[in-house]
Amino acid sequence: MEQKIRLGISECLLGHEVRYDGGHKWDRYLTDTLGQYVEYVPVCPEVECGLGIPREAMRLVGNADSPRLITIRSGVDLTDRMRSWAEKRVAELEKEDLCGFIFKSDSPSSGMERVKVYNEKGMPEKKGVGLFAKSFMQHFPLIPVEEEGRLHDPRLRENFIESIFALKRWRELRKEKMSRGNLVAFHTEHKLLVLSHSPRHQSMMGKLVAAAKTLQAKDLYDQYENLLLESLKLRTTLKKNINVLQHMMGYFKEQLSRDEKQEMLEVIEAYRTGYVPLIVPVTLMNHYVRKYKEPYLSRQVYLNPHPVSLQLRNHV
Ligand code: SF4
Repeated sequence: MEQKIRLGISECLLGHEVRYDGGHKWDRYLTDTLGQYVEYVPVCPEVECGLGIPREAMRLVGNADSPRLITIRSGVDLTDRMRSWAEKRVAELEKEDLCGFIFKSDSPSSGMERVKVYNEKGMPEKKGVGLFAKSFMQHFPLIPVEEEGRLHDPRLRENFIESIFALKRWRELRKEKMSRGNLVAFHTEHKLLVLSHSPRHQSMMGKLVAAAKTLQAKDLYDQYENLLLESLKLRTTLKKNINVLQHMMGYFKEQLSRDEKQEMLEVIEAYRTGYVPLIVPVTLMNHYVRKYKEPYLSRQVYLNPHPVSLQLRNHV
């Protein structure tokens, strides 16, 4: 990739001391590991909307679908101030070319889900969304989003990172001259990646590409982008990955020896039963793709969707 992937991030996760108590919530994985591939665009809603550091702590109060943002000690209602700032800020973020956003969990401003909302009796229910996070997700409904806490789950982490790399490749394609040929090349390379997220979307995208000549280039690209982003929102599963691996084996019918076929089937079975992580059958598949110079599979992003140093696909 020519440039780093641009991601929005809740600023305290970078170690900046912007929290209400003057502290931070530095996440080393995000800065030191993912940060090698990513350029962060920090956003601290509470500071940027004009509240100082330190400031009074606040929480969501009332109805979980449209809660108020209220300071805990003095009861000041900051909802309108936060909402009108957030509306302007998300519009500004359109220029930032973001491929995703990582939110700080549990925050009444930045939390993406399950934020505490206090009812009239002062009892919390984990049903809310932080006000800025809500504005962002309404404005950019298909952009990949996650919270730092959820990124500790290897499956969610893998899915999010795969999605931001795919979106970055798509954005790079969109910077080139729009052409049906370029789109077909992108689609060919991403077919199995999309299949691992959603066979239904892979089929719809195939039909769209087949009808490319009947559409204006911009319309074609816009429709394709929507389907691509929708598919990436659907998580890969063991079953979907096995489907892709078996599909790939079909390309080697002639070349693989009986032993090699048997070995591949055994490794796929070990993945299915949870004895080995996905990286094992994928590595063996990569070996055969190289050995037999299989032209279609050698172009598949599915075999190398993100840098190995991120150690994804390593969990069972
Ligand atoms: S959670 Fe959000 S509002 Fe709170 S300090 Fe972090 S970035 Fe700022």
